[in-house]
Amino acid sequence: MYLKKIAFALLLCNMALSQSQNTPPNLIVIMTDDQGYADVGFNGCEDIPTPNIDAIAKNGVKFTRGYVTYPVCGPSRAGFLTGRYQGRFGFSDNPSINPNDPSAGLPVEEETIAEVLKKSNYNNAVIGKWHMGTHPRFHPLERGFDYFFGFLSGGHNYFPKKLNINDLSEVKRKWQWYATKIKENRTVVEIEDYLTDELSQSAVKYIEKQVSNDQHFMLYLAYNAPHTPLQATPKYLSRFDHIKDPKRKTYAAMVSAVDDGVGQILKTLKKSGIEENTIVVFLSDNGGAKNNGSNNRPLRGRKSDLFEGGIRVPFAMQWKGTIPAGMTYEKNVSSLDIMATIVAQNKISIDKKRTLDGVNLIPFLNGENDSEPHDYLFWRKIKYNAMAVMKGDQKLVKNKRNDFKEMFNLSSDLSETYNLIEKNNAQSKSMQLEWDLWNAELIDCIFPSLAKDEWW
Ligand code: CA
Repeated sequence: MYLKKIAFALLLCNMALSQSQNTPPNLIVIMTDDQGYADVGFNGCEDIPTPNIDAIAKNGVKFTRGYVTYPVCGPSRAGFLTGRYQGRFGFSDNPSINPNDPSAGLPVEEETIAEVLKKSNYNNAVIGKWHMGTHPRFHPLERGFDYFFGFLSGGHNYFPKKLNINDLSEVKRKWQWYATKIKENRTVVEIEDYLTDELSQSAVKYIEKQVSNDQHFMLYLAYNAPHTPLQATPKYLSRFDHIKDPKRKTYAAMVSAVDDGVGQILKTLKKSGIEENTIVVFLSDNGGAKNNGSNNRPLRGRKSDLFEGGIRVPFAMQWKGTIPAGMTYEKNVSSLDIMATIVAQNKISIDKKRTLDGVNLIPFLNGENDSEPHDYLFWRKIKYNAMAVMKGDQKLVKNKRNDFKEMFNLSSDLSETYNLIEKNNAQSKSMQLEWDLWNAELIDCIFPSLAKDEWW
């Protein structure tokens, strides 16, 4: 009897072990909005401490050359959420906020990361900014997400008293959507705290619920901070008496609020014992903007530019026990790689007509593969007839409609100062050719732009 009991206990042990070994890794993607490349401690920031965001880099890897697929919010997020260059499906601008326009959003024919992970029985949440369309057909709950807490439009107010219209049907003028109340799934909720704190609290609650249900999950925590409007509470402002510029000071306070939130999330993972089964990614959706007091130095340009300051972002990732701690990775990686990485961990098959543009980063981080993750990275801003293509250190870029083409070596010229196009004529031509081939696979923008909104 005694031996039988031991055998039974061993059997249970083995079952528990095999279950934990087979549980797919959770994924948490923390995306900030318009945060500068230089505005995290792990990229050398001195006036805004970000110990919690830095902990992600310390626990895993910081990418010095981490790129997004577009230098403004909407298209960049569409690239991350599908793992595909968004120009392939015409998401080539910030879409109109018109809730009655069934074209202005992430095409329903595309699979989101949440829809893909559903195939491996993930529970999926998006907390914060959606920006993938406001028509009911684009709602996160229609796009593979099981939980939504946030707002459907782009930028947003942070103080509860500044959230004073129920929803987009009450919008009477441009930018008034910054004042829509927060929704939990499809229901309006009255929040009491500063929005960034509310988003962090909601994220912690969501994680705890999944842990208690023994449910693997994907959480896309899309902070709208530190995007304008510059609004911060005394609690966070009081940390920055050393910053005299009022814009930079408020921006710093907003980043600090995000950092506190990241700390709460990391603490929750540790407390729940799921650190080794959770991939955490931190990145900004594009470079620091002109209007929010951010800092992209030493990179050239800012949000909306195809220079490095628009597309190279603070980017770090941890997966304890799998990615070596304290690593610096210096080859080009992309926000597109997040989807490919999690898909590879789950061995999910992808629709052949919708090939992923990213790569599984894990072999590049654990030393199995020391080649370049990407032969080329590409960008296009169709409205401005602007383009960029990168191969290793070499970059060919035409930033705006009337700009001329320039070529830079990013390893010797990080600030894109010395145009080498005359000296490297043959190489610039071959890079242009690669871009042309890629561009031929893209389509025109499929929806009206936010810039022209006047639907109310
Ligand atoms: Ca943004």
